[in-house]
Amino acid sequence: MAVLVVADSDNAHLRDTTHKTVTAALQMSGDVDVLVLGQGADAVAAAAGKIAGVRKVILAEGADVGHGVAEAISATIVGLMGGYDALLVPATSAGKNFAPRVAASLDASPISDVVEVVSSDTFVRPIYAGNALETVQTGDAKKVLTVRPTAFKAAEEGGSASVEKTAAASATGTKFVSEEMVKSDRPELTAAKIVVSGGRAMGSAEEFQRVIEPLADKLGAAVGASRAAVDAGYAPNDYQVGQTGKVVAPALYIAIGISGAIQHLAGMKDSKVIVAINKDADAPIFQVADYGLVADYKTAVPELMAALG
Ligand SMILES: Cc1cc2nc3c(=O)[nH]c(=O)nc-3n(C[C@H](O)[C@H](O)[C@H](O)COP(=O)(O)OP(=O)(O)OC[C@H]3O[C@@H](n4cnc5c(N)ncnc54)[C@H](O)[C@@H]3O)c2cc1C
Repeated sequence: MAVLVVADSDNAHLRDTTHKTVTAALQMSGDVDVLVLGQGADAVAAAAGKIAGVRKVILAEGADVGHGVAEAISATIVGLMGGYDALLVPATSAGKNFAPRVAASLDASPISDVVEVVSSDTFVRPIYAGNALETVQTGDAKKVLTVRPTAFKAAEEGGSASVEKTAAASATGTKFVSEEMVKSDRPELTAAKIVVSGGRAMGSAEEFQRVIEPLADKLGAAVGASRAAVDAGYAPNDYQVGQTGKVVAPALYIAIGISGAIQHLAGMKDSKVIVAINKDADAPIFQVADYGLVADYKTAVPELMAALG
């Protein structure tokens, strides 16, 4: 069985979500290739070749795939799938955009958010906002999976796979116009070792910036938020952690003024250590917290900042 893993990159750096997806792929088969889609992405392809267990790297270059245009990415992948039995894609926003298109073209039923590989055709995935796990078996000739990177250990370095170049497809019916990239010195939310998240208790965008962001900066952490905080405009959309936001599993997750609704827990309950600050001792967040502080954040956070020096 040959498996193709789509690399997660920004054209310059290979993200470790790729290594984690390779781990899942290697549990299905020993024949694992990595597809790097991009423009000027030679360094990414070289990095992918160093992942232990990877057989070959395919570097598909083109302007549209370099800009992440899903139509071009899916057309390129479909063109390559003749040689593969399964496609594994990190369950990122981009992956969730193009994987269903590939599945539709291959007449396959995509399996999303895989957290465990049972065998080459059987997988475990969360349902009901992570409250239950279902085991699904697919009979599709070509399997299309998105893989939840936080559920797998990163594959080690140490490989020496060769890189094969090919031309990527162009988008039809869609044209890349421009992009606005968020510039931040903070670590990326899904890759950060520490995440500090704020909830509705912040009450305003100014308060969110005053309380959450300096603490995150002091800890070298990424900033997250509950959906209530995002919907109220206290924090940008891409900060949202949870069922309909990002799934994170950092070494340390600090939830401040967040009640711990199941949809929020779905995005962070696999964090190694969870710290919650909430003035309501009955808040559900305390059921998953390793350390819980029943306190008003207005006094607790300044004390924490002072203790951190
Ligand atoms: C389909 C669907 C998808 C959803 N997806 C998501 C998702 O991806 N992510 C997500 O987060 N939510 C999601 N939600 C929303 C979720 O159900 C909750 O409404 C939301 O998580 C609540 O956010 P919160 O904890 O910030 O607010 P609240 O539930 O209002 O909690 C605020 C908390 O702050 C505490 N507090 C108040 N003042 C202070 C203070 N001064 N000091 C300390 N603590 C204080 C309160 O005790 C309370 O526990 C989704 C809902 C649905 C229906």
